Amino acid sequence: MKQQYLTTEARRAELRAMAYADYLKTPEWIRRRFAHLQAVEYRCQVCNSPDDLTVHHRTYERLGCEKFTDLLVLCWPCHKLFHERRKLAQSVNIQPQGMVK
Ligand SMILES: [Zn+2]
Ligand SMILES: [Zn+2]
Repeated sequence: MKQQYLTTEARRAELRAMAYADYLKTPEWIRRRFAHLQAVEYRCQVCNSPDDLTVHHRTYERLGCEKFTDLLVLCWPCHKLFHERRKLAQSVNIQPQGMVK
């Protein structure tokens, strides 16, 4: 498989069709995850912890072409909480700076 940085329509369809666990191993995701971590300066977006960070998908709708707001950097305890309590996840609405709805 050729590793190219441009995500084509065909490749996006492929990314969306694969199992989530497989998607997490793709170069597309690894790059996006890294860019997102850099953008939030390696801090949990809920509690500001720099430890055990994970990039959480707020929605799986755009796998392969996620928007900034589709992703949330969380430390391990916050991530666990998000998955345990989805209501809490939905009540938190974090917007990137300068973005107004
Ligand atoms: Zn946290
Ligand atoms: Zn998650």
